[in-house]
Amino acid sequence: MEFETLCLHADNNKKDEWGTLTMPVCQSATFVHKGVGVQSDYSYSRLSNPTRAHLENTVARLEGGAAAVAFSSGMAAITTVMKLFKQKAHIIASEDLYGGSLRLFRNVNTVEGMSFDFVDTCDIACVKSLINENTKAIYCETPSNPLMQVSDVAQLASLAHKNGLLLIVDNTFLTPYFQRPLDLGADIVIHSGTKYLGGHNDTLAGFAVAKTPELAEKIVYYAKTIGACLAPWDSFLIERGIKTLPLRMDRINANAKIIAEWLRGRKEVKKVYYIGFEDHAGYKVTKKQASGFGGMISFEVESKALAENVLKNIKVFQYAESLGGVESLITYPMLQTHADVPVDERERRGINDRFLRISVGIENIKDLIEDLEQAFKA
Ligand SMILES: *Cc1c(COP(=O)(O)O)cnc(C)c1O
Repeated sequence: MEFETLCLHADNNKKDEWGTLTMPVCQSATFVHKGVGVQSDYSYSRLSNPTRAHLENTVARLEGGAAAVAFSSGMAAITTVMKLFKQKAHIIASEDLYGGSLRLFRNVNTVEGMSFDFVDTCDIACVKSLINENTKAIYCETPSNPLMQVSDVAQLASLAHKNGLLLIVDNTFLTPYFQRPLDLGADIVIHSGTKYLGGHNDTLAGFAVAKTPELAEKIVYYAKTIGACLAPWDSFLIERGIKTLPLRMDRINANAKIIAEWLRGRKEVKKVYYIGFEDHAGYKVTKKQASGFGGMISFEVESKALAENVLKNIKVFQYAESLGGVESLITYPMLQTHADVPVDERERRGINDRFLRISVGIENIKDLIEDLEQAFKA
């Protein structure tokens, strides 16, 4: 089946007695045993639930993995996956990561005895030079958040596997519609399902998708033990979102391209970070490993006053955190997603008081451009 069809029919094996077309919300915490010692698929919803299992089967097929596990948020997925690693484990991670992931690695996992090196994972030689006998994994986000750096997944995978490491890729920004890291050699894919997969800015969710059944089994073990599982109703909402993922991504991709070019044409805009520009450092790698550019654009304006004005004046764009939904959002990473990153590091990387990030939605492009024009002028 092709991707668009899989979004609707990946798991048509519902086996329910009513013949429901849509997987119902199976709102039950527990399940009646069929008999003493009789094995059944479901016993308790922390372990597994029919609505969640249906969604997990869909996501596993979309990413091409052996299995997917659905969590109550992206951070719950990442936290649980980190349980694969023990004390003294060393991980090499992208320095440009989602702020919550950085906080987890630095302030929780490090305290628990793991160690991290944060580097530009676009630089394979640098990643290679940091591998030591305790290194267990490479963790990357590509494109990265918010600087849109592109790492070569196939190259990282081959480096990881030569050294017996796992490659973990956060694929939230491009989704499997545009990029399938497991096909490129990654071992685990992470998602904040809150973003494009759900797509409607209304539900938190997360996923870990494992390439092999062995790895999946370990993640399932930690997931059911830790208990940060996705609720049945939320599973239903994410599944519903996925049905229109390809349509939304196509519109978002087209809108983003026009907005990125508009931004680049403004004299008040000093720099635009967008992976669809042919002169983007990662353009060639993107063309090789992805089939679209997604909807994320960061940019730097000439002054803090202008950045604040844009946030104050926009009317169609909403000034809000998060990304990946049908509504276009704009955020101020310095104050929101990256507020916990040390100031000097943030500044060095260009995440300053003039730096804004846009998540493009599916509105009519005319309204989006008009909104930006009036916000820049006002
Ligand atoms: C939002 C986000 C996360 C965290 O997901 P939540 O669902 O908010 O917990 C992780 N990675 C990326 C790239 C994200 O954008």
